[in-house]
This record gives sequence, structure tokens and C-alpha cells, in this order.
Amino acid sequence: MLSCRAVDAKTAIKSLYRDELAETLAGLGEPGYRADQILQWVYAKQAESFEHMTNLSVALRKLLADRFELNAVRRVRTRSSTDTTEKFLFELHDGSLIETVLIPATPGLTSRSDRFTVCVSTQVGCAFGCRFCASGLQGVKRNLTAAEIVDQVVAVGRITRQRITNLVIMGMGEPLANYDNVMRALKIINAPGGFGIGARKMTVSTVGLVPRIKQLADDPLQLRLAVSLHGATDEVRGKIMPVNRKYPLKELLAACDYYVNTKHRMMTFEYILIDGVNDSLEQAHKLGAIAQRLHAKVNLIPYNPVEGLPWHRPDRDRCKMFQHTLKSHGITATLRMEKGTDINAACGQLRLQTEKA
Ligand code: SAH
Repeated sequence: MLSCRAVDAKTAIKSLYRDELAETLAGLGEPGYRADQILQWVYAKQAESFEHMTNLSVALRKLLADRFELNAVRRVRTRSSTDTTEKFLFELHDGSLIETVLIPATPGLTSRSDRFTVCVSTQVGCAFGCRFCASGLQGVKRNLTAAEIVDQVVAVGRITRQRITNLVIMGMGEPLANYDNVMRALKIINAPGGFGIGARKMTVSTVGLVPRIKQLADDPLQLRLAVSLHGATDEVRGKIMPVNRKYPLKELLAACDYYVNTKHRMMTFEYILIDGVNDSLEQAHKLGAIAQRLHAKVNLIPYNPVEGLPWHRPDRDRCKMFQHTLKSHGITATLRMEKGTDINAACGQLRLQTEKA
């Protein structure tokens, strides 16, 4: 316990913007360029300890170790899938468990992946209770700090020795319910001296928090927006997503409209296909009309079954039919062939399993 309290008293270095770090260092009598030297170790070299920062004096390394916490997440489990997806279970300082997934995009069977996407979590658990999702089964415990979000990306980079090129904020939790920490984390990762992932390579996925979507539209960071729709009418969406009562489709789509027109960027609707629930062709036509109006793309995701929940994925033909119907509206609709199904890659599943064990 003592060591935990000591950790809490330190500043998490991965939660700081460069200028904030420089200011703290100036207070310790260090020149401005020290911040850049240290950030190089933190992000480019992904150092695990201040001791490894060998171009700093031994005294400064000790001072940094006394003042700052370098690591915010610790790996406790890794599971690799046959399709090369890797899933990491990380422990936080308070013992909470979160999940992070590395998804390599392989252009062809024989060529090497040219794109490495990390899927990060933003909360421990989730408050929104979508009926089909494992993350919300036990409610929300707390928001992740900016450092805990940033460190998921750095740790996966270090563990796998891959250059991470893309980020999707689609792990456990609702990113826009932890707005300030998520935006801080993404700006730290985006910064030139930071991890250096372009904002256009980052996708924030939301359950549909209307005021926050508008706030995101007004933020200068050029992120990509994905909205989890999962139903094309209030009736169907309301059955599986309780949030639809607070923000019904009309309001949600108006917020999407605002986003698209403010940012002049295309957005994406995510639509999981659940057998007999939201996969009728009537829903496909309605979804087609919505997407057409907003010039949005649609990502179809066959449902990834969760132990203990009664939902199933439709068969392949039905998924294809749904996609085909959307395409007849002139929509770009991808049918995401499941990555990581055999390692429980759907959000919250590995954590759930580990906590039960
Ligand atoms: N809270 C955010 C981001 C996390 S979930 C959101 O709702 O968008 C990322 C995506 O995975 C969401 O579209 C979510 O609905 C979907 N998802 C959750 N459980 C799933 C499952 N078992 N199978 C397939 N997709 C799932």
C-alpha cells in the first residue's frame, strides 16, 4: 500500500503536454531542451525507466524518478489471434484491468502489414449499458487518466516493436463521457515530439452523446468520428441502446450533421448485425437513407457473441444481403470480416473472462 500512495503523489509524465513538462523542469533549474530530450526517451524510444535515459545526468534521472511516474499501465496478459490481432490486458495502479488491441492490416496474404492500428480503452467499464456489450455488464468504475490512455499506445508499441500508425478509440468505455482526458491524451499522442500519430489517423467512436459530438466538431483537432448506430429507427435502437432514450435518433443525426458540416469531413456509422434484432432489410433501407443524407460510410460488424448474453450473429448470406441493400442506396458499406473473434476481441470480453477466473 505504501508504494501505491507514493506512486499517487508523483506526476504522471505521459499526461503532460510538452510545455507543461518544460515548465516543471524550468522550476527545477533545467533548460528548455531537456523536455525534448526526455520526451524522445518517453515516446520515440519508449523507455521503461528513467534510469535508461543515458544522456541525462545520474542526478537528474534520480530527480525525475522521484517526481514523475513514467508507466501508467502494466501488462498482465496477452492473447494472440490466428488472424494476427493481439489483445493486451493491462493493470492500472489501482488494480483495475483494461484492454487494448493491436490490429495489423495485412494488404495481401504474403506481404507484411503496412498499418498497425491500436484500439484503446477510455474508461474502466462503461455506464451506457448497451444490451449486447460486455463492457457495460458491471457498470463503470472510473475514467482513465490521460496518461493511462497515452500509455496503452506506448506500451503496445514497446511490447510489439511495431510502429503504430493508427488509433481507434473503440475499446472499453465511452470516450466522449471522459472528454477532457481523452482529448488531452489524443493531443499528447498527436504532438510532433510525442508519439506523432496524425489526427486524421485517429477515430473516436461514440455511443452518441449529442452535446459532446457538437463539442468535438468545434475542437480544432481533425479527428475522425464514428457513431455506433446499431438501429435505424428509435424503436430498434431503443431496444438495444438505452442511451437512445436520452438522445433519440433525430437529435443524434442533427449532431452528426453539425459535425460533418463544421469539419467538412466524412463520418462513419458503425452497425453491428444481430440476428433477428436489427438485421431486417427494412432497417437496411432506412440506414441507407440516413447515411445517404449525411454522406456517411457504414461499417457493418457481424455481432461477436458474448458469453451469457442471448444475441447471435446473422448468417453470412444475411450479412451480405444487408450490405447489398445499403449499397443500392449508393453507400460505401464495408462488412468488417471479424478480426480477433477467437481471442474475445469485442470490447470488455477478455477483462470479463479474467475477472471471472
Ligand atoms: N462506447 C463507444 C466505443 C466503444 S465500443 C461506442 O459505443 O462506440 C466500440 C464498438 O464495438 C461499438 O460500436 C460497440 O457497439 C461495438 N460492440 C460492442 N460489443 C460488441 C460485440 N459483442 N460485437 C460486436 N461489436 C460490439
